[in-house]
Amino acid sequence: MSTRADPLPTDLLALVPDVLQAELARHFETRRQKAFRARQVMRWIFETDARTFDEMTDLPAGERAALAAAYRLGELDVDTVSVSQDGTAKHLWKTHDGELIESVLIPTHDRLTLCLSSQAGCAMGCTFCATGWSGFRRHLTAGEIVAQYRGSRRWAAEQGYGPITNIVYMGMGEPLANRAAVHPSLTILNQGYGVGARRITVSTVGVVPGILELAERPEQFKLALSLHSPVEALRQELIPLEKRWPLPQLIEALSAFRDAGGRRMTFEYTMIGGVNDAPELAPKLADLAYSLHAFVNLIPFNPIPWQSWRPSSPERIEHFRTVLSDRGVDVAVREPRGRDIDAACGQLRANALVQIEGSGS
Ligand code: SAH
Ligand code: SF4
Repeated sequence: MSTRADPLPTDLLALVPDVLQAELARHFETRRQKAFRARQVMRWIFETDARTFDEMTDLPAGERAALAAAYRLGELDVDTVSVSQDGTAKHLWKTHDGELIESVLIPTHDRLTLCLSSQAGCAMGCTFCATGWSGFRRHLTAGEIVAQYRGSRRWAAEQGYGPITNIVYMGMGEPLANRAAVHPSLTILNQGYGVGARRITVSTVGVVPGILELAERPEQFKLALSLHSPVEALRQELIPLEKRWPLPQLIEALSAFRDAGGRRMTFEYTMIGGVNDAPELAPKLADLAYSLHAFVNLIPFNPIPWQSWRPSSPERIEHFRTVLSDRGVDVAVREPRGRDIDAACGQLRANALVQIEGSGS
């Protein structure tokens, strides 16, 4: 790849605030500039949302040029934006090397949730997921994750959607398989852009070391676990990763997460007709959720081109809901948003909604 032979300048969007501050301080010091210049640039990045160094108009032209020579602001290009009748807006972004990634803005009541991607494609190969079928392209950088937020924030402001209140890592990719970029992106969104940790949810299919790492972070980031089956054998058929980290190990990691500061997790359960909706699975799901004090979202399967599977019937979904609720589990049924703009995307709209009202914050 050309980027390897000819590395791009450092992307300032990819640096956590402490590192950014130190980097800019060093830069301006060598240029014999006052220390407040670093704070000016940081304000342009985090608050005033400059897209280029040239827009940083309170810096002298020579300093803007020097910044542009040394660094870049790794913004994404907009390929297309589709807006659903229900207001859900999907961005298709193009990275500098031509990868296409998606993020979705979902307005509900008093919230605006951004669902963002952590990888171009996904290597996990879950059988019910369009991203899984289309394979893995590459990890996104922290800057590319943050740039989805920046571009969406800008678009939302221009279109009168208001500020983004919640973020879910539920777009393309498995965030905990890209921890080298996802951890700094969490820090940047939280410390730099001021998005509260409790308003940021990481969704995982069950990467155990990643769950343990997240549990160790002092911030209260939320976790959503894509469960889809309370029994190992069936889960293995749906999620190849189940073989690597089977349910007993996963449950241990989830307990550690729960014990690390009273954070409530969510289980996502995509309901596929005749696949994972047998009535005898409902009490098993209920017991598991109860023991971990998890909130459960039941999501009708969203059909994908590679499978003939259909969503569970409304009666079956209602049966699950009742069994869970009767056993003291907090549960909700989620309808997909933005169906009319969905086209090929496997999961974005349906599951991003889950976190919005799901776990009670
Ligand atoms: N890789 C992470 C996050 C992205 S997937 C994860 O799997 O959790 C986001 C959510 O969409 C997951 O809960 C996933 O199981 C769900 N999903 C994938 N394909 C789906 C489909 N066809 N219908 C409904 N939900 C789907
Ligand atoms: Fe990857 Fe999540 Fe899709 Fe599985 S469900 S293939 S982990 S994006």
